[in-house]
Amino acid sequence: FSGGGLLVYSDSNPLKRTLTADGQQIKKKKVVVLGSGWSGYSFLSYLNNPNYDVQVVSPRNFFLFTPLLPSVTNGTVEARSIVEPIRGLMRKKGFEYTEAECVKIDATNKKIHCRSKDGSSVKETKEFDMDYDILVIAVGAKPNTFNTPGVEENAYFLKEAEDALKIRQTVINCFERASLPELTEEERKKILHFVVVGGGPTGVEFSAELHDFLVEDVAKIYPKVQEFTRITLLEAGNHILNMFDKRITAFAEEKFQRDGIDLKTKNMVVGVTADEISTKEIATGKIVSEPYGMVVWSTGIGIRPVIKEFMHQIGQGQRRVLATDEWLRVEGCDSVYALGDTATINQRRVMEDIAAIFSKADKAETGKLNKKEFKNVVKDICQRYPQVDLYLKKKKLRNIANLLKSANGDDTEVNIETFKQALSEVDTQMKNLPATAQVASQQGKYLAKCFNKMEKCEKKPEGPLRFRGEGRHRFQPFRYRHFGSFAPLGGEQTAAELPGDWVSIGHSSQWLWYSVYASKLVSWRTKSLVVSDWVRRFIFGRDSSS
Ligand code: FAD
Ligand code: MG
Ligand code: MG
Ligand code: MG
Ligand code: MG
Repeated sequence: FSGGGLLVYSDSNPLKRTLTADGQQIKKKKVVVLGSGWSGYSFLSYLNNPNYDVQVVSPRNFFLFTPLLPSVTNGTVEARSIVEPIRGLMRKKGFEYTEAECVKIDATNKKIHCRSKDGSSVKETKEFDMDYDILVIAVGAKPNTFNTPGVEENAYFLKEAEDALKIRQTVINCFERASLPELTEEERKKILHFVVVGGGPTGVEFSAELHDFLVEDVAKIYPKVQEFTRITLLEAGNHILNMFDKRITAFAEEKFQRDGIDLKTKNMVVGVTADEISTKEIATGKIVSEPYGMVVWSTGIGIRPVIKEFMHQIGQGQRRVLATDEWLRVEGCDSVYALGDTATINQRRVMEDIAAIFSKADKAETGKLNKKEFKNVVKDICQRYPQVDLYLKKKKLRNIANLLKSANGDDTEVNIETFKQALSEVDTQMKNLPATAQVASQQGKYLAKCFNKMEKCEKKPEGPLRFRGEGRHRFQPFRYRHFGSFAPLGGEQTAAELPGDWVSIGHSSQWLWYSVYASKLVSWRTKSLVVSDWVRRFIFGRDSSS
């Protein structure tokens, strides 16, 4: 590592040491956490192990409640209301925080290289190294432009609090500019053409928020130019919200059409200049360019450069995303964990392990599993391989025993062949977890709980296969629990998809949405701020100063 202002952390601080049972001082293990977003903040909130010296590095000294970020773009909610300063948590927990960005991870020497946030001059930017015993990577992801020319320079993203504020300002500036005298109709139309790229939840929600703003507020504030406004939503796939139930997609598409949002699916953006956005119709290959006032880009996420470089270092250069095992340990290096949007879990196939599973369960080595052995192994398989549950659900079977019955008839003993045959299609149900706050926060909580009982478990480390009764203290692999998803569609209507194929669309789910998100906000401070923002908006409308 090289760089100006090298700073080495000293470990002479007594707080960084702990006493063992016989009164000896030992050095605490140093846990470095990168990031203060959904996964990092959740990890830190649940971490309660006095044997760790915890150091947080993040360029952002607050946690951001991203689900309400689209509401910041039109002033329904203030940005201040959805951020939680991290210093409070640090003080309460006795953790340390450094406002900097990690620019390089050196897994061989267990060191990270950091750069403080850009000051106004180069001199104010400090670079320093920090060593770790355990590294927790929770840096999230960055917007993905798919290298489309001109996007980086001309489009707006919606990822951080500043992004939302910038969008809000730009929308209002567009209206002020379009209201200037002596413009032609064409010019006004151009300035008030808002283009949203990406029909995923964020793009859809932003379009809906923008539309609400146009009909509820702009109509009153800028009545003269309202007729020139237009929203275009571009999506390369066949439908918007394609990860949701078909009923939700259909409802959203119809609602947008009714609302006058110009929805163009099967259209790929091929370039953005300062004045025009060019799209290619996928079926015909025809390219069309249109003038615009503002483009918001929301087509999904990509890996951060620091992670990309790290992946090359540890032999994951061929992969698209950083891979961990089910315990969130980064594959290919030691003592490094990764969670949230940065990483995906590299799920194991049942078929890869089938012989090992069988022989492990077959304690008496008879070549057959009796009823009891079978019952035990089944429970473990369900724990260890999430695809099994999904497969059983799909086949509408309650448990593996029924699955086996179909392969084995009434025979109570199972040999390896029937075992294999019964489970042969289970792996078709493997899928990656979505990049959501729900997954990130559950992973943070899970990992913290593992760290909290690390000492007990280190005596009995988990293996790739561990079976019931092999010691009380062991780590279960991470399992995701899906509590449902929402897609706010504007006009006080929300689509909700809850577990068990339960779909609800309309005003009642909007109230469910209000209450779920109010309850998920991390502190009473943010809860009361957001709720009062909502109330203020109901009574007085949105603020339109920029
Ligand atoms: P983040 O929350 O992005 O946190 C990353 C952290 O790392 C940040 O603190 C960042 O400053 C820091 N960091 C970045 N680079 C570095 C570095 N080099 N060194 C150190 N620190 C670094 N999910 C839902 O489940 N429901 C929703 O309704 C929902 N709505 C969303 C709306 C919007 C507008 C957006 C953008 C996302 C939404 N999501 C939603 C997705 C959700 O926000 C992400 O999945 C979640 O934030 C991922 O958590 P994370 O911890 O991986 O990353
Ligand atoms: Mg994070
Ligand atoms: Mg966040
Ligand atoms: Mg993120
Ligand atoms: Mg992930």
